[in-house]
Amino acid sequence: MVKVTLKGDVIKEYEAGTTIAEIAKSIGMGLYKSACGGKINGVYYDLRTAVNEDCALEIVTFDEIEGKKTFWHTASHIMAQAVKRLYPETKLAIGPSVDNGFYYDFDSEVSFTPEILEKIEAEMKKIVKEDLSLEKFELSPTEALAMMEEKGEIYKVELINEHADKGEPISFYKQGEFTELCAGPHLMSTGAVKAFKLTSCTGAYWRGNEKNKMLQRIYATAFPKQSALDEHLAQLEEARKRDHNKLGRELELFTTSELIGQGLPIMLPKGARIIQTLQRWVEDEEQKRGWLLTKTPFMAKSDLYKVSGHWDHYLDGMFVLGDPAKEEEGEEVFALRPMTCPFQYQAYLNRPRSYRDLPLRYNETSTLFRNEASGEMHGLIRVRQFTISEGHLMCTPEQLEDEFRGCLELANYMLQTLGLYEDVSFRFSQWDPNNKEKYIGTPEQWDEAQGIMGKILDHLGIKYSIGIDEAAFYGPKLDIQIKNVFGKEDTLITIQVDQLLAEKFGMEYTDKDGTKKNPYIIHRTSIGCYERTLALLIEKYAGAFPLWLAPEQVRILPIADRHHDKAFEIKKELEKMGMRVTVDDRSEKTGYKIRESRLQKLPYWVIVGDKEVEDGTVSVSKRGQGDIGSMAFNDFANMLKEEIDNKVR
Ligand SMILES: [Zn+2]
Ligand SMILES: [Zn+2]
Repeated sequence: MVKVTLKGDVIKEYEAGTTIAEIAKSIGMGLYKSACGGKINGVYYDLRTAVNEDCALEIVTFDEIEGKKTFWHTASHIMAQAVKRLYPETKLAIGPSVDNGFYYDFDSEVSFTPEILEKIEAEMKKIVKEDLSLEKFELSPTEALAMMEEKGEIYKVELINEHADKGEPISFYKQGEFTELCAGPHLMSTGAVKAFKLTSCTGAYWRGNEKNKMLQRIYATAFPKQSALDEHLAQLEEARKRDHNKLGRELELFTTSELIGQGLPIMLPKGARIIQTLQRWVEDEEQKRGWLLTKTPFMAKSDLYKVSGHWDHYLDGMFVLGDPAKEEEGEEVFALRPMTCPFQYQAYLNRPRSYRDLPLRYNETSTLFRNEASGEMHGLIRVRQFTISEGHLMCTPEQLEDEFRGCLELANYMLQTLGLYEDVSFRFSQWDPNNKEKYIGTPEQWDEAQGIMGKILDHLGIKYSIGIDEAAFYGPKLDIQIKNVFGKEDTLITIQVDQLLAEKFGMEYTDKDGTKKNPYIIHRTSIGCYERTLALLIEKYAGAFPLWLAPEQVRILPIADRHHDKAFEIKKELEKMGMRVTVDDRSEKTGYKIRESRLQKLPYWVIVGDKEVEDGTVSVSKRGQGDIGSMAFNDFANMLKEEIDNKVR
């Protein structure tokens, strides 16, 4: 017998070899039916796993992420089975779970149109109703290959061949007539997948490689209950409406051009205005906090990147100008900058430095270029050229913690002001000692840098997760992560500690005792990349930007032609105060103009008619509140000014 410690520290005894599923059943049928897997001493396993020793066991349901993944991956088998029943000639590739659901890649002559997707869904419903149990079995690599070759599953054969040389058995899951190459884990039967929806179909290269065949990828999601699925689909619909790549174009904030190229967005006047507003705010705030603005070139000779290590570690990510092959013959080769670091270091190296110069804080609104694969491009989030609130701070070891805190406080202040703070999480990004290709420096140097940074983070009381192999090639990072409207996570802001590059560039300072030392460098961004920030703001506010950011802050609606002069006079007055104002002087009905102002989510619009012209007032409407009454012009102007100055959300 084995002793199993269950939820609430309840200890029960079972025959050795009892499976997690059987234990769940012994606790209750409800739990058994909702079980997706189990954690033995904290490690997640398939429900069919036998318990052979005393342990702690937690039954995992759909409520936890591991449970969801098992559930979704089981649903992907159901989808593959349905496709094979309907279109037996189809070849199966892979079908993993992803954020919010799963997909399966198929190689099929049939084009999966929305009508076909409906047919597949109907067949899936049948498979769920049949409540087929999933049975796991193993074959030797030779047997596994023979089986998949006989079925003509060329992609599975390729996958098995990769594992075959290890000689380990290959595992399969079988449900009814359908057998799938799979490591699991899986639910016990198809009957549990009560509610699902195939959401879209796109093209996807086999193994993500453009040289391979383009397959059809069906995305889908699944839930244990219809009501949960409905709720999810409603959220998805709302997310689609807010998607910056759609809404940002509709609002005429940005566009793209085939002629200019992918990942190179064009900021239209309204988008450019928001970015300018952000940029002025960031630069002013940095100035207040002791940062010194630099302006460095967009490109440099390859020599600079050879010193920094970018040439060896980041060449694929750079746009190179000139032919590196002819460099030895004396031809100059340049590259557009992917980072600002080595440029600002040259500013530091402008003259000898002493401890009195430190901390030295250099900021720059810096445009960077990164050669990302064209398949990766997305709106303002994945781009090849972007502008970032960059900064490098040189300091002594004693100053490091305070300066790090200062950088973090600035970033937090900006996130709070923008209303993004509640959406972020912190990640301590470390190197991977096994990925030596990617990183410079010795294990001792990395241990030291990560140790120092870990201590600072713990001192500051920051709750963070750890990201292995997420560090920059020259140092660990604190990444401030944010999820977009679809739940996809990206890095918005980073703060890094680095000692390696100072050494490489010969950056020194003379300490109090007259000795020369390398400064610590903090690489940081304060708001991150402007394009990405704009994307997040579009999604956050669904176009209803706070007054201080709105590209059009006030619209004036004169009732008749005779009110035009007054309208333009008001516009001029507000513009003198720095506001962004338009006059709608079209000869449309006032009701129509009001409706348009409301639909365009303008922060304020004011009506000017006979009465207003006479007593020097404006009739004010506010977004979300409608008509807020008549006001003396000066009161209105001051009210706006205060709201802008305080960056009210
Ligand atoms: Zn599977
Ligand atoms: Zn840097």
